[in-house]
Amino acid sequence: MPFLLRQSPYDVCIVGSGAGGGMAAYTLTQAGANVVLIEAGPLWFSTENSRMLEWAYQSPRRGAATKDHEFGEFDGSLGGFEIEGEPYTRAPGSRFDWWRSRMLGGRTNHWGRISLRFGPYDFRRKSIDGLGDDWPITYDDVKPYYDRIDRLIGLFGSNENLPNEPNGIFQPPPKPRCYELVVKQAADKLNVTCIPSRLSIITRPLNGRPACHYCGQCGRGCRTNSNFSSPAVLLRPALATGKLTIIPNAMAREVTINDRGLASGVSYIDKSTGQDLHVAARVVVLAASALESARLLLNSSSTHFPQGLANSSGTVGKYITDTTGTDMGGFIPRLADGVPHNEDGVGGMHLYMPWWLDNKKLDFPRGYHIEVWGGREMPSYGFMGGIQGYPSGGGYGADLKNLYRRYYGSVVGFSGRGEMIPNDQSYCEIDPDTVDRWGIPVLRFHWKWSDHEIKQVKHMHDTFEALIHEMGGTLMWKKPGPEQDYGIAPGGRIIHELGGARMGTDAKSSVVNSQCQTWDVKNLFIADGGPFVSQADKNPTWTILALSMRTGEYISTQMKQGAL
Ligand SMILES: Cc1cc2nc3c(=O)[nH]c(=O)nc-3n(C[C@H](O)[C@H](O)[C@H](O)COP(=O)(O)OP(=O)(O)OC[C@H]3O[C@@H](n4cnc5c(N)ncnc54)[C@H](O)[C@@H]3O)c2cc1C
Ligand code: SF4
Repeated sequence: MPFLLRQSPYDVCIVGSGAGGGMAAYTLTQAGANVVLIEAGPLWFSTENSRMLEWAYQSPRRGAATKDHEFGEFDGSLGGFEIEGEPYTRAPGSRFDWWRSRMLGGRTNHWGRISLRFGPYDFRRKSIDGLGDDWPITYDDVKPYYDRIDRLIGLFGSNENLPNEPNGIFQPPPKPRCYELVVKQAADKLNVTCIPSRLSIITRPLNGRPACHYCGQCGRGCRTNSNFSSPAVLLRPALATGKLTIIPNAMAREVTINDRGLASGVSYIDKSTGQDLHVAARVVVLAASALESARLLLNSSSTHFPQGLANSSGTVGKYITDTTGTDMGGFIPRLADGVPHNEDGVGGMHLYMPWWLDNKKLDFPRGYHIEVWGGREMPSYGFMGGIQGYPSGGGYGADLKNLYRRYYGSVVGFSGRGEMIPNDQSYCEIDPDTVDRWGIPVLRFHWKWSDHEIKQVKHMHDTFEALIHEMGGTLMWKKPGPEQDYGIAPGGRIIHELGGARMGTDAKSSVVNSQCQTWDVKNLFIADGGPFVSQADKNPTWTILALSMRTGEYISTQMKQGAL
């Protein structure tokens, strides 16, 4: 595939090639725009680069995590919570961990593919409980785009007609595995809604991509492109139009502005030579991931925009959120001593539990869903979480091998994923004293969970315990108490960070309008998680994709009308 370098200026310059940037590139090139995409990482296509089919025993590390692959040696990601030469800082007393991807396709190469639409209530939470803010758009505004990405990208699931978990255009879901059937029985007993999961993995051929063959290695990137990644599903067809130029290993430094106060392009560092370069374009779309886009805006100050670009409201970097999260495993004796059987499936859960309760009857305002894990995964380093955690406590020689056989597949786990409400004490800003290896000022994070979130994770643990006991099991580790804030994961750790350039109806309190166009600079758009007004308990990427498609179409219409 040629990576043709067109003559600058381009119609549109996009920064970042993940979910948001990939969809913007796809939509705009399909509409005929000449697009240049600046990406901080190298080219990466799962068909060529994925290690999907390697056995753990083929590596001396047996798949253990490395500094560059925090989720295991074979994981399809480049980047992490720490990147050499690219620090971020935390205000005293704050803990926020920031995952950054540095590769073509960003996090879409190794994400969990849980692909949930926000529901009608999620766009208007303030109207329901008075907290946070409503979006300036409703579910009905986004629904046509959700429908189109369902058809374009493909996902499996089931239509359940639940009020806030919208139906979609689903392919058939895979059947539950043995341990998932046990979970389903327990959930039914406890009246916890438990339904087929919704993952952007195709179980039927779609748009030239073959169906999943159930190798269970989605996190490594799929060599057959049966799951969604931006390079395979969006950037390949965008390149095929001949209208897309990708500049890899290019770290955007700032958005440049002309004397009319409009965006004129993006300056960037060629990471291979260290040279400072510039690309000119009529329109700029930031999709570097929510907080990286906020950083770019804050670093793009000028005489026109002394407090940072598009920041006349002072809200760039504010109203940031992450999903709440905590986990628990349960040892289930009836799953031990199992008959060897095949539990192949997709690289993720086949069932999940959407939020099933009414917050008006609880002591916290927003819900969570439960993700399910366990079963007979392919053994590798750290297999089964360490035999010492099982009732026998471990052993030696033949005895040890027998214990592994006995207990293989006998642990079931739950991960709660819930909605955080934006608060004034959680935000990011430019650290005046620290720069990265290219001299670009870095972000400093302030973070605080409120009682809303802490009470919510307490409820998660109570539910996990009830489910595990209902299955006849025991907890694998001690349930965290109030001294540990009930085990809530530190901010950023669930890697669903959003906000920092929120959408609104008023230029005084928001960064972008309902089309993700900045109020202050009409040819500057944000197409990642930055414009999110609220988090929802849903994983955010399906909504990032839908909004990016919507924004891309708005840009192309405006360009054709001469408004941009
Ligand atoms: C392990 C894991 C599992 C996840 N599971 C799920 C899930 O199941 N469901 C879900 O909805 N979400 C999930 N997520 C979150 C999901 O991956 C993100 O919401 C989504 O990918 C964000 O898309 P994005 O385009 O905003 O950012 P990214 O995917 O992070 O892409 C941003 C791109 O911009 C580039 N970039 C950054 N800064 C610059 C710069 N200055 N100049 C040039 N380029 C730059 C980066 O290199 C990157 O390629 C998961 C994330 C991880 C890490
Ligand atoms: S489980 Fe399916 S989608 Fe995932 S990597 Fe294997 S074949 Fe691809």
